[in-house]
Amino acid sequence: MRLILVGPPGAGKGTQATRLVEKYKIPQLSTGDMLRAAVAAQTPVGLKAKEVMDAGGLVSDEIVVGIIHDRIAEDDAQNGFILDGFPRTIAQAEALDEMLKADNLKLDAVLELRVDQTKLVDRIVKRAEDAKAAGQPVRKDDDPEVFKQRLDAYNRDTAVVAPFYQKIGLLSVIDGMQSIDDVSASIESVLEGLDEKV
Ligand code: AMP
Repeated sequence: MRLILVGPPGAGKGTQATRLVEKYKIPQLSTGDMLRAAVAAQTPVGLKAKEVMDAGGLVSDEIVVGIIHDRIAEDDAQNGFILDGFPRTIAQAEALDEMLKADNLKLDAVLELRVDQTKLVDRIVKRAEDAKAAGQPVRKDDDPEVFKQRLDAYNRDTAVVAPFYQKIGLLSVIDGMQSIDDVSASIESVLEGLDEKV
């Protein structure tokens, strides 16, 4: 199963991806996580990406496409994967399409978590508080001001990705304002519908 989760930052993509990993035993490929690891390890990619990530902007297509290209070639991704936070631009979506075509692979579904953006800042403040309470590090870009920049980047560059997949019949829209369990159930019913189509 090859899936993409799209939606603004704070929509719940990471939470739902974690659940899908358990259920389908396929890896979650989060470009955000990979970039944060590169920043922490101070790799050349990390050094380039750090500043733009700290400011809530988008890392270059070239960098993230390169990361995904290498990652989907790894053994654990051969039976499928869940892309979380990629593609974020049409250029990235087109590059992914080419990569998959080159290996005769297809996406099964693109799930858009649709949310009320006015509620997202509250969610992100809560995410930071929860991380702190659990003794986990708080993401620097979960600061409310930086978060607003990330939301702007989403609306400017990434909001066009869902319609791109809608045009080719792959998009399913999920109400991301439901409880976490209800969002999972909505996703399940979409994915069960795919099984029936096969
Ligand atoms: P995320 O964890 O998905 O919210 O990503 C955190 C940050 O990493 C984003 O705000 C961007 O700066 C960067 N990033 C992650 N994925 C991408 C992507 N596909 N394209 C460009 N930048 C990305």
